[in-house]
Amino acid sequence: MLAAMVQFVRDVAPKFRQAVEQLPHLPRALTLVRQAAGRWTLAWAVLLVIQSILPVAVVLVTRRLVDSVVAATGAGTETIGIREPLLLAVVMASLLLASELTRALAQWVRTAQAELVSDHIRELIQERAAAVDMAFYDTPQYFDTLHRARFDAQTRPAALVESLGTLLQGGLTLIAMGAVLFGYAWWLPLILLLSTVPALFVVMQAIVRRHEWTVKSTMDQRRSTYFEFMQSTRETFAEIRLYDLAVHFRTSFTALRDRLRGERLDLARSEAGARVLAGLAGLTLLGASLVWMLLDALHGVISLGQLAMFGQAFLQGQRLLRSSLENLGQIYSNLLFLGNLFEFLELEPTITDPADPQNLPSPIRRGVTFRDISFTYPTSTRPALEHFSLDVPAGSTVALLGRSGAGKSTLFKLLLRFYDPDRGLIEIDGINIRHLRQADLRRHIAVLFQAPLEFSTTVSENIAYGDLEAGRDPENIVRALEAAGARSIIDRLSEGKDTMLGPWFGGTELSLGEWQRIALSRAFLRDADIVLLDEPTSAMDSWAEAEWLSAFKDHVRGRTTIVITHRLSTARHADLIHVLHDRRITESGTHDELLALGGRYAAAWRYQVGDS
Ligand code: ATP
Repeated sequence: MLAAMVQFVRDVAPKFRQAVEQLPHLPRALTLVRQAAGRWTLAWAVLLVIQSILPVAVVLVTRRLVDSVVAATGAGTETIGIREPLLLAVVMASLLLASELTRALAQWVRTAQAELVSDHIRELIQERAAAVDMAFYDTPQYFDTLHRARFDAQTRPAALVESLGTLLQGGLTLIAMGAVLFGYAWWLPLILLLSTVPALFVVMQAIVRRHEWTVKSTMDQRRSTYFEFMQSTRETFAEIRLYDLAVHFRTSFTALRDRLRGERLDLARSEAGARVLAGLAGLTLLGASLVWMLLDALHGVISLGQLAMFGQAFLQGQRLLRSSLENLGQIYSNLLFLGNLFEFLELEPTITDPADPQNLPSPIRRGVTFRDISFTYPTSTRPALEHFSLDVPAGSTVALLGRSGAGKSTLFKLLLRFYDPDRGLIEIDGINIRHLRQADLRRHIAVLFQAPLEFSTTVSENIAYGDLEAGRDPENIVRALEAAGARSIIDRLSEGKDTMLGPWFGGTELSLGEWQRIALSRAFLRDADIVLLDEPTSAMDSWAEAEWLSAFKDHVRGRTTIVITHRLSTARHADLIHVLHDRRITESGTHDELLALGGRYAAAWRYQVGDS
């Protein structure tokens, strides 16, 4: 017996410690709820207090009612005796009605509160996702944390408050019921408490196991979503159909879900078994106590009214204790899962603004300089750039050429401070970009990325996102379209620049090259000193490229421009061309100079023009 008790304490102690460790999440969660729905929460708390008092009133009235009925029937004087029971019955009915009303009201308030809190948390998650470094997005850990924050924690703070409230309500009622029972015998409230201890242990253990399993299985949960995604989106349609991969992904999905469901059900089964045992222990104590009371009533120690009152109080007490226990379990579970949310909300960017930022001159006068840059992506072991240096004089157009993976796009990400280099520095007009506010730096740069976003909005909005202020003026939109050689695209669309694009909301679909030129218009809407273009003509045909090049030259005149391209027909128009090889610049010069040099550029030119 002693050994069993020692073992029990040993089992419970770590769970209890784990529960205590979660407590710091509690004030934080409450602050979240207060910020999101302070007044609703207050209203709800008031309703809870009312709800907690009503059952005790019902129990007390029950005793009076039974005793008055017994007295009335015993006395045989119906005219005198019937008035009190009738009055008490009306009071009882009013109390029960009030219970129903407050419950319905509380449910409505609680729905409003839960919606507000959930939306608030979604906003916080979005805010954090927008604040973290690009490097976070490179790791599966980030997506695991985001997945848990999104799917587990969003409803948890509101649920936590609800559990707290219900616990408070149940606790208040319980104390009152305990006082009633204490009137019968001091040990009765104690028996009530004891009968729920096994259930407490079971609940806590189940929650810890469930949470451990959730954390452990996050990547697999995400993988199953990935299998679903592969079979059900527009982006994946073509290759999945072509290679007939739907069955493959469905089979993988089913196998994975089978395993996850099996694990989850194993947990639920062992939890159910433990609950039955704990319930049996509680019921034994409850049954024994009721028999005791019944015997007392038979021996005339207590009246029938008292028997009804104590019996009701004890049964309700047991029910309340059990539900309070569930609530405690819920609170604990919510706190554990809230840890996931706070873990995500605590992610801090490592790339930050300087305390005392400098200002960039506008327009810039000297240009952009990369000095001895070395950089390895945080998730990689191979450097993307090593001792790389490049000078782009203000107002000039520089073309960067090089093999795939040479590190060209990485240069843009470093200049935009999506990552910081491990060595070396990047300067604009002699100012280290780390000394600039990030937003200020980025405002000076117009960029066309290799795979630009296709916004499911109108053409105008697609372009206006480049500069919301400038985008308000329709003339600016048209100018940007012309600079990007995209005017002819909107001329073909039924509603011109007001045409809705993209598949999300029933818009028109564009070709890859057309989307690219819309993205280019977006970049050109921004009146920036520095222009970065990553493969601007990759999806253009030769005619579109020729048309675009003349508009492009006009647009970038006087701006500092870097163009990454594999097309020598685009590169040859640059003031200076650099060839990147093995993470360094190996050739530099104008088109003619590089042809005369007879190196890689000249070889590529002969190959592309077919002049070999
Ligand atoms: P391409 O011409 O094909 O666009 P690129 O010259 O622009 O190539 P980068 O995109 O700069 O090449 O990539 C340089 C190297 O860095 C490549 O080896 C690539 O695998 C690696 N790399 C790029 N992005 C990441 C990343 N987010 N995490 C880890 N490694 C990366």
